[in-house]
Amino acid sequence: MRTYILLLVGCLTLSSFAQNNTSYWQQKADYTMDIDFDVESHQYKGKQTIEYTNNSPDTLNRVFYHLYFNAFQPGSEMDVRSRTIADADPRVKDRISKLSPEEIGYIKPMKLTQNGMELNYDVVGTVMEVDLAQPILPGASTTFYLEWDAQVPVQIRRSGRYNAEGVAYSMTQWYPKLAEYDFQGWHAHPYIGREFHGVWGDWKVTLSIDKDFVVGGTGYLVGEPTTKRGKTTYVFDAPMVHDFTWAADPDFVHDVYEGANGVTLNFYYKKTMSETNLKNWKELQPKTAALLEFFNKHIGDYPYKQYSVIQGGDGGMEYAMCTLITGERKFGSLVGVTAHEMAHSWFQFLLATNESIHEWMDEGFTSYISNAAMNEIMGENSDNPHRGSYRSYIYLANSGKEQPLTTHADRYDINMAYGIAAYSKGAVFMAQLGYVIGQENLAKTIKRYYDEFAFKHPTPNDFIRVAEKVSGLELDWYLQDFGQTINTIDYGIENVVASEGGTQVTLKRNGLMPMPLDLMVTYADGSKESFYIPLRMMRGGKDNPYDGVKRTVLDDWAWAYPTYDFEIPSNGKTIQSIQIDPSNLMADAQPDDNMKKM
Ligand SMILES: [Zn+2]
Repeated sequence: MRTYILLLVGCLTLSSFAQNNTSYWQQKADYTMDIDFDVESHQYKGKQTIEYTNNSPDTLNRVFYHLYFNAFQPGSEMDVRSRTIADADPRVKDRISKLSPEEIGYIKPMKLTQNGMELNYDVVGTVMEVDLAQPILPGASTTFYLEWDAQVPVQIRRSGRYNAEGVAYSMTQWYPKLAEYDFQGWHAHPYIGREFHGVWGDWKVTLSIDKDFVVGGTGYLVGEPTTKRGKTTYVFDAPMVHDFTWAADPDFVHDVYEGANGVTLNFYYKKTMSETNLKNWKELQPKTAALLEFFNKHIGDYPYKQYSVIQGGDGGMEYAMCTLITGERKFGSLVGVTAHEMAHSWFQFLLATNESIHEWMDEGFTSYISNAAMNEIMGENSDNPHRGSYRSYIYLANSGKEQPLTTHADRYDINMAYGIAAYSKGAVFMAQLGYVIGQENLAKTIKRYYDEFAFKHPTPNDFIRVAEKVSGLELDWYLQDFGQTINTIDYGIENVVASEGGTQVTLKRNGLMPMPLDLMVTYADGSKESFYIPLRMMRGGKDNPYDGVKRTVLDDWAWAYPTYDFEIPSNGKTIQSIQIDPSNLMADAQPDDNMKKM
């Protein structure tokens, strides 16, 4: 009996664990950091306490920290990769290899404990591997305490001191950051070039820095800063974020602009810029408020009480409650980069996909929504604000250089293939989904995705499942072919002949990727009629996307058949042209045969 009960308990435990492995969980890391910064040496000392909660079903015996600043040392993976890739990022090239000891970046751990017990660790490039003194059981919490010395590198990529526009400190990826452990295991990715993934938690950061510096960044200022012996101490609070960033400069102006829903927009920029640039930064402020409203409306409400646009970095990069952007830009470019980086507050920050392995979900979805936002905010009024993304993707698809979107962000053969895949093909993924399921369903999908996955780590499957639930259509094929292969879409009009009852049309599928088809027939009198061919494996179709145009839903097309025949019944009118997808939202890699003129 006893054995039986033990067995039963064992089975119950096993089955509950097995269940946990498929149901969602995420780790929690609450950070407290104390930073003493020296602007003379560009060095600082840090003390960090992390209350770490293991919500996984697994017992952890090791943990990993990212030490990103170590990438800025001659011979690092970032340095060597940049010197061996065919199309190096011009901001990096061989600059790291030439850094002197006073110019490199480093994070040197000095002391690490777990619940007060000293820990053994190995610093391996940009990752610290830590053996635990006590295993962390499922559901248990533990306390890590870490002291470190660091040097801010000369600005090379994203972070660093004195960027091209003279901003003193761009402090991004600047602290020992616990690697994320999720249903796919550890993600202790080395810092080679791109993208991040972090643990959700509450943060409290105390920063002491020379009193002449103005500081902006993640988190709400707690109380008034205090000044003692030439240094000002700031305390910042940031609830439920997975990163913390700041920037500082003695010449920063700090403007405040009130956004929708009581969100305070902060702008930090150098007062030493040209008159034109200063004017651009003033005019950026109402545009940023308009962008916030656009994203609130089309994705979901921004849940924090502040967002800061800060001059810094080397282009534009998204962080918690803020962005660092270069500031000496033409007005359109300044608004454009702000639109893109601010959109990341949703597609990357709140909907915190693992950017290293799903780079297209943050860059692509962000590009999609920021293209749409710019179209409205700047009054561009294009019927397809994603045209540039389609052009780039189709170029890549025909170039022989394309790699599937499942490629790790660092493992593209060339930067061009990464850039177009992540930004352009990722945006096309979203825009084209609107073609597949209809625009109304796409809009609902984006909102429901936000409702279900904000403050989590959603995956590609999570997104496509939302689209399936909203549309009632089967879409696994769409994620798989477009998101996991380099199969291309290529349909064409093979033949059009007069028949007894009207006009016989033969269509051909030349590419491997399946798609449903919209066809538009234009008659000599200018009138139009559309035909819709559902894709059989979708088990359904979309509503008529062309208001006021008569639509006929034809038999579905099963993918394996290379050709499809149908008849346009004679109606006394003369056909002028037949066109596949006049919206151009289907990314046909060879569109030349999509239009037949009579
Ligand atoms: Zn981006």
